[in-house]
Amino acid sequence: MHIIDLINKKREGQILSDKEIKFIIEEYMKDNIYDYQMSSLLMAICIKGMTDNEILSLTKYMTESGEKIDLTKLGDNVVDKHSTGGVGDKTTIIIGPIVASCGVRVAKMSGRGLGHTGGTIDKLESIPDFNSNLTIKEFINQVETIGFADICQNNELAPADKKIYALRDVTGTVESIALIASSIMSKKIASGAKKIIIDIKVGNGALIKNIDDAEKLANIMIKIGKKNNIKVICLLTNMNIPLGNNIGNALEIEEAIDILKNNKQGTLRNLCIELASYMVSLGLNIDYENAKEMVINNINNGTSYEKFKDFIKAQGGKIDKLPKPTNKYDIRSPKEGYLNNIDALELGKLSMQLGAGRNSINDKIDPTAGIIVHKNIGDYIKRGEILMTLYTKKELKASIMNVPVFEINKTKKKKQELIYKIIK
Ligand code: URA
Repeated sequence: MHIIDLINKKREGQILSDKEIKFIIEEYMKDNIYDYQMSSLLMAICIKGMTDNEILSLTKYMTESGEKIDLTKLGDNVVDKHSTGGVGDKTTIIIGPIVASCGVRVAKMSGRGLGHTGGTIDKLESIPDFNSNLTIKEFINQVETIGFADICQNNELAPADKKIYALRDVTGTVESIALIASSIMSKKIASGAKKIIIDIKVGNGALIKNIDDAEKLANIMIKIGKKNNIKVICLLTNMNIPLGNNIGNALEIEEAIDILKNNKQGTLRNLCIELASYMVSLGLNIDYENAKEMVINNINNGTSYEKFKDFIKAQGGKIDKLPKPTNKYDIRSPKEGYLNNIDALELGKLSMQLGAGRNSINDKIDPTAGIIVHKNIGDYIKRGEILMTLYTKKELKASIMNVPVFEINKTKKKKQELIYKIIK
């Protein structure tokens, strides 16, 4: 077998066999296939796609490139959660404690971010002394005692995904249903949970731009789950607008605390309740309505916030020492009218320029940098009112303040949906 023949095969839109996909992953991990050859193959996959069987094989060999965590000791109420990523997405930090407070165990591995804002681990590490590098034994122990642990994606789990993702990131090959599905599911299978909720973000601030593609992604991930004895439920959710009002690492922790303390209503809270309810329903084998009642009660009665404090403390974090930003710049509205849209992608790019995200893997994040949006979709805005505040240690140029983030019109547009579809 030769990699050039396999690249040519995929370029011509032909189907790769299970043996060929095994060869590709194994030889790439041994450095017998070069990055430039792999990039070329990935681009051919992006353009020509893969059949379900090819995606199943790809997922299998990516999973087998590393270790698998055995969570059987924790029983069958362990649920995992994954998001395909979006601007202001801090749902894991809110949902983990809520779900754990309902008696379901959440064993979560999260990543650092590249682009836009940080990943969940960057957000958690903005809390002084938070330790995201527990050993697997410590991780399982914390899930058993506290109900929730969140650690940095371990290098031994699906290392093929790590190596391929780094390449995809710099070769324009991230946006492929086959590659996204195998990337997510290889990590999830290796992480050990048998019940998973996946939040597929759809919109201009997300990897998936339309519902059709999101449905295809959901269906193949559910199929991969079935093949591996894992129950997968996918929620297709709106990422044309950012999630919540705060973007940036420590700022997002503050917003998560506000939700957990029951101090904040709105779309972020609503989405967290939906995701948490499906997790609790799966974890406890109860119906969705009962699960939702439990979730809302535990937010209202403070149990979820107590669980959050236990979780942060167990991982060494000092939540009372959350760093505060220094310089701030208020951005005011140039006109009057209804706020009809907030552009998630533009806000993401802006927060990155402020220092909240990374351009390359070695960039250092400023945990205090970011944005607070003070208005919500549908609000009536007066000229000169503060729309958002930017926080950064950088000196800002005037041009950065004029990014086209807010759509304000004389008439109010129909409110955007939060959850488009649930696929089981
Ligand atoms: N998240 C992942 O883990 N992998 C992808 O390919 C895209 C989003």
